[in-house]
Amino acid sequence: MLFRQLFEPESSTYTYLLACPDTGAAALIDPVVETLERDLDLLHRLQLRLAYVLETHIHADHITSACRLRALTGCRIALPAMEPVPCRDVGIQEGHPLDLGSVRFQPLFTPGHTDTHHSYLVEQPGGSRVFTGDALLIDGCGRTDFQSGDAATLYRSVREKLFALPDDTLVYPAHDYQQRRVSTIAQERERNPRLGGDKTLEEFVALMANLQLPYPKKIDLAVPANRQCGGCTPDELEALRGPDTGG
Ligand code: FE
Repeated sequence: MLFRQLFEPESSTYTYLLACPDTGAAALIDPVVETLERDLDLLHRLQLRLAYVLETHIHADHITSACRLRALTGCRIALPAMEPVPCRDVGIQEGHPLDLGSVRFQPLFTPGHTDTHHSYLVEQPGGSRVFTGDALLIDGCGRTDFQSGDAATLYRSVREKLFALPDDTLVYPAHDYQQRRVSTIAQERERNPRLGGDKTLEEFVALMANLQLPYPKKIDLAVPANRQCGGCTPDELEALRGPDTGG
């Protein structure tokens, strides 16, 4: 399997490129509009055909490049089936793997950051990776105080579903704000300061209720935009730019 971890610095988002070396079919997990050109260049350089954009959830902190990538490459947009967005081509559901040549994405329903959030497990002969979106971050987790977040739900998703994966499964999060790139299930299960060790549900819920995080800067723009897969038609793109920026 071909694999690249890519970083978008403004929102500290990791985008992941996975591809099947036999067929040249590729997928991008959580691509960001700011890095659209970089991602297209990379696909071109590696001579890959983008088959899918895969979203872990409807993001609040950045705008996805899904629709633009579809317009430019003909890829299909896969995101959680329970999310009522018309721009989706493929509805993701736990128990229904998505195949990309020899690469199989196994969706895991991991709500709590949002109520439709999914993680993706990819098992390969050399080892497994899990793309945890904003459910599980390195030494952290996504916030649960906006959109459809719920701390108790996130606790169960992480402890019962993600921490049930084998110890050496590599954990690739959607964000890191301190240049950390990868962890393992064993490491997070043992020492994640929010969810690991013997942290109880009550402790986690209290901790998440007292974070006092600022209102997400881009949420009012990003959530409606991402419900349109980042904007698909010229009219949508224009409307999403808003009245003040002048394009
Ligand atoms: Fe998020």
